[in-house]
Amino acid sequence: MFTKRPLLVEAVTAAVLIAVPLVLPYLDAAPNTVNRILVWGLFGIGFDILFGYTGLLSFGQSAFYGTGGFVAAYLLTRAGFPNVVLALIIGMMAAALAGYLIGLLALRRTGIYFAMITVAIAEIFFFVEFNPLADFTGGENGLPGVPTPSLFLGFTTLKFTSGWSLYPFLAFCYFIGIVIALRIVRSPVGAVLKAIRENALRASAVGHDVRAYKVTAFVIAAAYAGLAGGLLGVLQGFMPPDAFMFDTSGQLIMQTAIGGRGTLFGPVVGAAVWLFLQDFLQASLGLGAAWKLVLGLVFVLLVFFLRQGIIGGIRDLYDVVRGRAARAEPQEPAAEPPAPKLQAHQAVSIQTAAAMPPRRHALDGFEGPILQARNLTKRYGGIVANAGVDFTVNHGELRGIIGPNGAGKTTFFKMLTCEVPPTSGTIVFEGRDITGMSVTDVCQLGLTKSYQVNQLFNRLTVRENLTIAALAELRGKFRLDLLRDLSGIRGLDQQVQRTLELVNLTGRTDTPVSQLAYGEKRRLEIGLALASSPSLLLLDEPLAGMSPRERVETVRLLKNIAKGRTMIIIDHDMDSLFELTGRITVLQEGRVLAEGTPDEIKANVRVQDAYLGGVNGALAA
Ligand code: ATP
Repeated sequence: MFTKRPLLVEAVTAAVLIAVPLVLPYLDAAPNTVNRILVWGLFGIGFDILFGYTGLLSFGQSAFYGTGGFVAAYLLTRAGFPNVVLALIIGMMAAALAGYLIGLLALRRTGIYFAMITVAIAEIFFFVEFNPLADFTGGENGLPGVPTPSLFLGFTTLKFTSGWSLYPFLAFCYFIGIVIALRIVRSPVGAVLKAIRENALRASAVGHDVRAYKVTAFVIAAAYAGLAGGLLGVLQGFMPPDAFMFDTSGQLIMQTAIGGRGTLFGPVVGAAVWLFLQDFLQASLGLGAAWKLVLGLVFVLLVFFLRQGIIGGIRDLYDVVRGRAARAEPQEPAAEPPAPKLQAHQAVSIQTAAAMPPRRHALDGFEGPILQARNLTKRYGGIVANAGVDFTVNHGELRGIIGPNGAGKTTFFKMLTCEVPPTSGTIVFEGRDITGMSVTDVCQLGLTKSYQVNQLFNRLTVRENLTIAALAELRGKFRLDLLRDLSGIRGLDQQVQRTLELVNLTGRTDTPVSQLAYGEKRRLEIGLALASSPSLLLLDEPLAGMSPRERVETVRLLKNIAKGRTMIIIDHDMDSLFELTGRITVLQEGRVLAEGTPDEIKANVRVQDAYLGGVNGALAA
């Protein structure tokens, strides 16, 4: 994700593109096939940003391929537009605009429903191209006579006509496309897109506007598709109507899967396999249409043996050769390493880290409690999870919440962070009524939580996880810094480093989450909430599932984290909670049963009777 030698990839790409016309003619490769591979590869770069990086599988890319292609071809053939490059750019922009409008609609849904909408949209575009717009698109005849580009240099004019003569133009477009895409995936936006792919819920909970970023990825993919569609017309001298067909989208998906998604180069590799295989089987072996049977077999074999595609397979091999654990597939957690013991220098760094200041977003002049919930009720159909809860927390407080299973603790946290709306009641945070706001906006204001069940970005490393959370605070919920390098963001490294120290994960910085032991994952879960520098931090059962040794360690960490911060902690480990917190609220059947200091709660007969039943001794001890 954060490659240390970024220009190496660009340099190797340029070298390969230059070498292709010098080497492939000796291997009898048809230049037209090579040119088509480049067009598919360019088309696939955008699709890979959408599918491989953001995790959005669209079946509707043909709509944008056709839009860009027909707009450019129409300008160049019927409208008498003289400049090929400009027409291609206009076609690309038209496709991007269509992508924006469609994205706004389709991205209101997720998963299979999103995919179904994209199928429907591709079909609608295909119909519109053939029928109402046939006068402009040529209907089933397409648009013939698309010119090829030429470049006037003052003393001479370079003409890119066909075959190897057109190759430099297409290779240049592909190179620019890959350079921009590399910048995008290495930018903060690229980091957020990966986070969305891994866990969209958590990406929004740490403060990113997930929908806006998804629309961004959709527009980028549509723009690449539009440019590739325009180049198809230039390549063939004719804009074919089948560019709009559903087959086009299907071929793109298969090529990306064959080459390896989430790599940017997967589509071009997949296209090379597809088109060379087609040439070889159809022309050399004379298989005709039956060549698709062989292609199908190849695809099945790849899915079985190289689930991350050809590039993924090569990367795994490279990892194995270098003795590193393969990262392509999430793995079972490693055996739990010994609980980390704090060394003297770490203790010092934790002191420093504890100084990591929480944000201040309070309304001007507001001096009241940091959080006030009034009469908060949540009903799920007939189930009342919370009923009429009044709850106030002051600045700097460390509050505990206890209650038996099903008492409504987690639901209460979900309402406070606006993950679910209350049925009735209000929540005021730092003087603002946040009732009904989004979880993203509330996190941006400085209120967030760690989850009872880990919500991590599993295929990313510990550092990458924390980076994503820190980015939300440093950049706000949405910013289009597509071409900016992550390393250029002021304060990011320091914030990530301080959080690593706070949750004692400095020794596991570059370890993928899937390889962490359970206790480490719990600490990272807390770290994700912390990295956004909240002024009010809610922790939902931070000690759940930990070994006794890890609990002791984590309680110590929580004490450090609490310095200068306001925190509310839910946990079933009462000994730890009594040790940690200054005040405790007891929930039972969705209502507040009691509130007081740990000693008051221990001595409260109602709590003993109602909450612990027969184990009063545990509280009194
Ligand atoms: P635990 O300690 O086991 O985590 P809890 O105190 O956090 O429990 P909640 O998870 O808030 O309790 O659940 C309170 C009640 O609300 C339970 O009866 C639960 O079944 C119900 N509940 C929670 N979420 C939902 C939901 N999404 N739909 C329906 N009922 C729900």
